Amino acid sequence: MNTEEDDPPEKVLEDAIADYSRRYGMSREEVMVRIACPICGKNKKIAVDKEMVLDSPGMVLTYPVVKGVICEHAFIAKIDSHFKAR
Ligand SMILES: [Zn+2]
Repeated sequence: MNTEEDDPPEKVLEDAIADYSRRYGMSREEVMVRIACPICGKNKKIAVDKEMVLDSPGMVLTYPVVKGVICEHAFIAKIDSHFKAR
């Protein structure tokens, strides 16, 4: 039997989303940012709150992308102060 001691990626993502919702409940000025999936390369423009990026440490926002938003993968995108995904 294999026992996983680390949190599965889904759990990490859930925590990131919970933290994100807690900090940014209200949406203000939005910027469209093109985010690409690191797994399959599909990309899509996502509305991101300007303030969230500017308030983030180092002005780099950790943005949780859930399954079905861009493609069938869930991953965490980084968005910098130029509103570009890294
Ligand atoms: Zn993908």
